[in-house]
Amino acid sequence: MKDLNRPVRVRFAPSPTGPLHIGGVRTALYNYLFARQHGGTMILRIEDTDSRRFVPGAEDYINEALAWLGIHIDEGVREGGPFGPYKQSERRDIYRQHVDMLLQRDRAYIAFDTPEELEAMRAKVANFQYDASTRLQMRNSLTLPAEEVKALIDGGTPYVVRFKVEPGRDVEVDDLLRGKVVIKSDILDDKVLYKSSDDLPTYHLANIVDDHLMEVSHVIRGEEWLPSAPLHVLLYEAFGWQDTAPEFVHLPLLLKPDGKGKLSKRDGDRLGFPVFPLEWHDPFSGEISSGYRESGYLPEAVVNFLALLGWNPGDDTEVMSMDQLIAKFSFEHCSRSGAKFAFEKGKWFNHTYLQEISNERLAELFTPLMAATGVDMAQFTPEYVAKAVGSVKSRINFVRDLVDQAGFYFRAPEAYSEKDVRKRWSADTPALMEQLIAVLEALPNFDAAVAEPAVMEWIKSNGLHMGNVMNAFRLAVVGECKGPHMFEITDIIGRDATIARIRAAIERIHLDA
Ligand code: GLU
Repeated sequence: MKDLNRPVRVRFAPSPTGPLHIGGVRTALYNYLFARQHGGTMILRIEDTDSRRFVPGAEDYINEALAWLGIHIDEGVREGGPFGPYKQSERRDIYRQHVDMLLQRDRAYIAFDTPEELEAMRAKVANFQYDASTRLQMRNSLTLPAEEVKALIDGGTPYVVRFKVEPGRDVEVDDLLRGKVVIKSDILDDKVLYKSSDDLPTYHLANIVDDHLMEVSHVIRGEEWLPSAPLHVLLYEAFGWQDTAPEFVHLPLLLKPDGKGKLSKRDGDRLGFPVFPLEWHDPFSGEISSGYRESGYLPEAVVNFLALLGWNPGDDTEVMSMDQLIAKFSFEHCSRSGAKFAFEKGKWFNHTYLQEISNERLAELFTPLMAATGVDMAQFTPEYVAKAVGSVKSRINFVRDLVDQAGFYFRAPEAYSEKDVRKRWSADTPALMEQLIAVLEALPNFDAAVAEPAVMEWIKSNGLHMGNVMNAFRLAVVGECKGPHMFEITDIIGRDATIARIRAAIERIHLDA
C-alpha cells in the first residue's frame, strides 16, 4: 500500500545539455510551489549521464537561473544533503549495483550487438524493435553460452545491459493530472539501462534508482516524459519498489504563441521574446541567446507569468507573489492541455511589477544600462536617479525602456528632434526663451510647486501662447516633445541644468531659411 502521508519530496532533474528552457523553468517552479505548500523538500539533481551531450557551463547556468527566480533548493550539488551525491555522474557505483540486481533477478540481460549489427537487423526486419519477439535472434546473454559472455566481458568487448520487458502485460500509469493510463507492454522495447563504454547508466535507470533512493514522493515533470512512464513503472516493479513509487504529474507542454505545436527557440527569435531565463553564451558556437533577466524582466514577473501558464488559482486573480502562489497552487487547477506562450502577457506582468517596486531598486537596475551608453553615472546621486526613473516608470514595460524614457535626465540634448523643431520653434522663440530664463532665475526656489504657478502667471499676464512656450521649453530641455510633466522634469534636474539647457537650445537650434 502506498503511504499517502509521507513527507513531500520533489526533485527538479535537469540534464546539463544547454541553457534551461523556459518550459523547464516552469517545471522547476511547479515543483517548488508544491514542495513549499506542503512543507516539503526541493531537490536539484543533475542528470549528466549522457556524456556526449554534456555542455560546459550548463550546470552553473541552472543554479544561477533558479537563484535569480527565487526558487530555493533544499538538497542539491551545492546545498548538499543526506541523499547525495546529487550529480548522477558521481553515483556510478550505486547504478552498477542496481544493474547487477536486475541481472541477478533475470529482469535484465547483457547485449553485445554492435551498431552495425543493429543496423543490419533494422534493414532486414521491418519496424525492428529489440524486444521479446527479437531478442533471441540477437547477440546477448540470453543467446550466448555463459562462458562466452564472461570471456567477452573480460576481454573488454563493449556491451549494454537491457531491460527485459515481458510482453502481454497491461502497464498502468497513474498521473495526478491525467488519471490512469493503461498501455500494453508489447509496444515497449528492451531499453538500454547501462553502457559499459562509459560505465554510465541511461536516463531511465538512473532516474528511477535516484527517485527511489532520494525518497521522492512526487515526480512532476514535462509531458515529454510521459512516454517513459510505463517503463519506469515496470522498473519500480522489477526492483520491488512499487509501494513507494512516486506519484506522477506530467505537465502540459508550452505551445507556440501563434499556431500549433511546441514552443521553440525559433518562435522566440521570430516574435522577439526570450525562451531562456538568463542570457546564454553557447560555448561551442559562440552564439548568444537572449534571456529574461538581461531583457529587463523582473524575476517576480517571470515567476507570476510562468505560474499561470498551465495553472490558475480558481478565480481571476492574476498578480500573485511567490508566497501567494505557494498558498494557492494545486494540481486540480492545472490544465491538461498545452498552454499557449502568451509572451505579451509576460510584458504586461513586467509592467505591473515595475510599478510596484521601489524607485531605488529600479534605479539600481537602470544605472548599468545607462552607463553602458557612455554616461558617467557616478556624477548623479542615487536620489537623483531614483527620482528620474520614478517620473517615467508608468511608461515602461522593461527596465531598458528607461534608457530611452529617462535618458534626458542624464544627458543634455545633443541634437533636437527635427520634426519638433519644425513644429515648435520659430523665429521669435529665442527671445521668448530668454524671458523664460529671466522668470526662472527670479524664482525664490525651483520646486514644481513654486515654478509652475510662476511660469503660468508670466504666460498669462503677458498674453503668451501656452502651447508655444511650453513646447519650446520642453524641446530645449528634453530634446524632443515627450516625457513627463514639464515641471516634474525641471524639479528633478534643477535650476542650473534647466537654464543651461535652454541657453544651449537658443544657441544651437538654427532654423532653415
Ligand atoms: N533529465 C531529465 C530532463 O532533462 C529529467 C526528466 C524527469 O524529470 O524525469 O528533463
